[in-house]
Formats: sequence, C-alpha cells, structure tokens
Amino acid sequence: MRFISGIQPTGNITLGNYLGAIKNFVNLQNEGTFDDILVFVADLHAITVPQDKLKLRQNIRSLVALYLACGLDKDKCHIFIQSEVRAHTELAWILECNTYIGELSRMTQFKDKSQKHQTDGVSTGLLTYPVLMAADILLYDANVVPVGKDQMQHLEMTRNIAERFNSKYGETFVVPEGRVNKNTAKIMSLVDPTKKMSKSDENPKSFITLLDDINIAKKKIKSAVTDSDMLIKYDFENKPGISNLLSIASAIEEKSIEEIEKSFINKNYAEFKEYVANVVADLLTKIQTKYNEYINSPIIDEILDEGANYANYLADKKINKVKNKVGLGRKK
Ligand code: ATP
Ligand code: MG
Repeated sequence: MRFISGIQPTGNITLGNYLGAIKNFVNLQNEGTFDDILVFVADLHAITVPQDKLKLRQNIRSLVALYLACGLDKDKCHIFIQSEVRAHTELAWILECNTYIGELSRMTQFKDKSQKHQTDGVSTGLLTYPVLMAADILLYDANVVPVGKDQMQHLEMTRNIAERFNSKYGETFVVPEGRVNKNTAKIMSLVDPTKKMSKSDENPKSFITLLDDINIAKKKIKSAVTDSDMLIKYDFENKPGISNLLSIASAIEEKSIEEIEKSFINKNYAEFKEYVANVVADLLTKIQTKYNEYINSPIIDEILDEGANYANYLADKKINKVKNKVGLGRKK
C-alpha cells in the first residue's frame, strides 16, 4: 500500500495545513499500514500564481524542515521536490489532452483563485492545476491520498481522469482514494470563520503559521472572531468561530470536543481563548525547536537527493508505460 501527498511552498505552513494534512501524514506513517510513503513539495503548483523567486526557494527548504519537525521520518518515507521529477509535467501534458476545459473551469479552487488574481492575470496553470495534481498521484500508483477537504474535488477529478484513461487505453493507473480527517478537514480563518484558513491569504491575522512568533500566535487566537452569546459549544452553523477553536484544540490535544466543552461550562470566552492559545503555543514551541535543528542541516539535501532518486525511478517506469499505451515515440 502506498500513499502520496504534497503541499505547495506558497508561504509559511499554517495550522490548517498541519492539522488537515501533515498531522495525518505522520499518523498514517506511524500506524504502519503503508509500506511505501511519498511526500513532496509541490513547487510546480506554487507558480500557478505569482511567486518571488528568492522567497520560493526559501519556502521549499523550509517546508522540508517542517515536514521533518512535524514528525515525518526519513527512514519511513521518501521526501522530494516535485520539479526534480520531470515525469510530473510530462504526464500532466498527456493527461491534459484527455481532460476537458469545461470540467476544469467548474473547479471551486479555480473559481476562487482566478477571482483573486484578476488584476495580475489568471494563468493557464491555474486552470490546469488539477491535471498536474492527477499526474502527481497517478505516476506512482498511489492507493491513498491524504488531503484537506478543499482538495477532495480535485481528487474526484483525478479518479475520473484515471478511469477515463484506463478505459480508453487499457488498465494503466491505480484509481486512488482520497482520505480526509473529518475533524480537521477544514480549519477556518481566524478573521472570517466561514472561510478556509489559507497560507496565501493576504491578511496574516487570518492564519497561524507553524513558524509564527509564539506571542503573536497567541494574540491571533485571542483576537479570533467569535460571537456574542458566551456559550462554549460546538455548533458550526451558528457559532463557526468557537467551533473552529474547539476543533483546533481538540485535534492538537487529541481530546474529544465534548470533553473540552465540559471543562468550559460556566467559563467565559477569554478563559477559553487563553486555553486554546496555550495549546497552540505549546505545539508551535515543540515544532520550532525541531525546525531550528533541521533548517541549516545538510541532512535536508541528503533526504531530498534520496527522495528524488526514488521518485524518478518509479515515475520513469510509469511514464514509459503511458507513452507506449498512447503510441508516443518509439516502443520501449
Ligand atoms: P494556498 O492558499 O496557497 O492554496 P493552502 O493553505 O490552501 O495554500 P495547499 O498547499 O494548497 O495549502 O494545501 C496543502 C494541504 O493542506 C492540502 O491537503 C489541503 O487540503 C490542506 N489544507 C489547506 N488548508 C487547509 C485548512 N484550512 N484546513 C485543513 N486542511 C487544509
Ligand atoms: Mg490551497
């Protein structure tokens, strides 16, 4: 059994990315059901929107150090950079020729991000992003793809692309299963709890990054938008802000939401926020201590070299098979 997933180096990794994605990678890694694990840095996805060249380089390395700091184990998984495996873009092209503009333009992420980038221009890459994502997954015959809820629509499309290709050209790809953790599938923005927390949000108060200064992170939690009925109870429809903070604390502490609710009966929002702020601060302190050990260590390059070698080995075999199926080039 193999799982694969990736994160874009589009900014500093948020608590949403940690709880919705990285923490699940680590749990799946440690539960032992997967004998092959691939986790990558999705730098090709990052350039679908404008990026500063130096920042992008920094973010790529920083994301690898964070993967390790959050508990990914170099002896149990292969970590690599997407752009260091050429077959991702090669397969993406072939799959694009088997994907329709209509289905791509219906994707929620495309609609949201193209809206946001009206002024600087909407790249074609933003439209074809889900096809590159399909290539990322299908190249490796991954069985499972752990993601946050926002990516499930793209995963459905990956499944459709795989099934369509298999029926047109004969059995080629494993049809993957998306896996979300239902309690942390969508961590919300701290300034607008009806919106997803995103690392590329223009308002830094809306997210907590794993590398935020501890006091600033605590302040962000304390000023998180809630409501005025003074009840600490999970009710996403009517109390999205409080519900979001409950989800965050419950996931980090690995305690049920009911248990936390019980300990805050007859307490006020300030006390509750103080508690959540401390839970988040403890997590960030632990991660940052490890991050500082990794970020300047040569181990990062060793891990990435090994990861690129392994990923290229698997990907090359697959892309040759795909080209044969389609009739491209000379038979290999
Ligand atoms: P961007 O704003 O640049 O798209 P992002 O925060 O959405 O950044 P991605 O790199 O697009 O991060 O996504 C990485 C992983 O994190 C994906 O599996 C995605 O579903 C998950 N994820 C992103 N935001 C959240 C969130 N708020 N809650 C839970 N999971 C999330
Ligand atoms: Mg995203």
